[in-house]
Amino acid sequence: MLTVGVAMLQGARHEHMHSILKAAENIGTDIEIRELRKASDVEGVDAIILPGGESTAMKIASRSENLYSKIWETIKVNGTPVLGTCAGAILLSQQGLIETSIERNAFGRQKESFQAEIKIEIDGESNFPGVFIRAPRFLQGSNHPVAWLDEEVVGVLEGNIMALTFHPELTEDYRFHIWLLSRVKQLN
Ligand code: GLN
Repeated sequence: MLTVGVAMLQGARHEHMHSILKAAENIGTDIEIRELRKASDVEGVDAIILPGGESTAMKIASRSENLYSKIWETIKVNGTPVLGTCAGAILLSQQGLIETSIERNAFGRQKESFQAEIKIEIDGESNFPGVFIRAPRFLQGSNHPVAWLDEEVVGVLEGNIMALTFHPELTEDYRFHIWLLSRVKQLN
């Protein structure tokens, strides 16, 4: 049984829960979802999902319970596999947990939200429905890109951390969530 922690302070949390359950079903793995609201909830999780939403609101909401500081420590110390989408990717970059730097709301107003076919390379090369909502943009090329919108990198994998500027949890394509579970299984 794998325990997947989902940071619950703000953002697209229930969509991620749905996707990770589907992913588990898909590969026949038993999982338990742990809702992460306070620091002690992070103890013993096998994987962490950092949803999109509003990164500033997440930081403010976390202050009283120190949830995020516990999450960052756990990732650093245990190398826990992480899937961070959009605001989640922003937080990972701001914390220096991924080397790739990121600019918030980088696609400007008129293009605040859009959908586009992107190219991914996680289990071979293929297309993926990219959903971008007030998306950030990676500023410097990563050594480990895994997703591209045209020529632009929109997803990176650094160690056990997958950071995406788009929202796989808003699609019926569960491959990034399957990646997360598979990475945990590889490590165990
Ligand atoms: N614009 C948001 C931020 O800066 C991120 C958008 C998202 O997560 N969909 O935090």
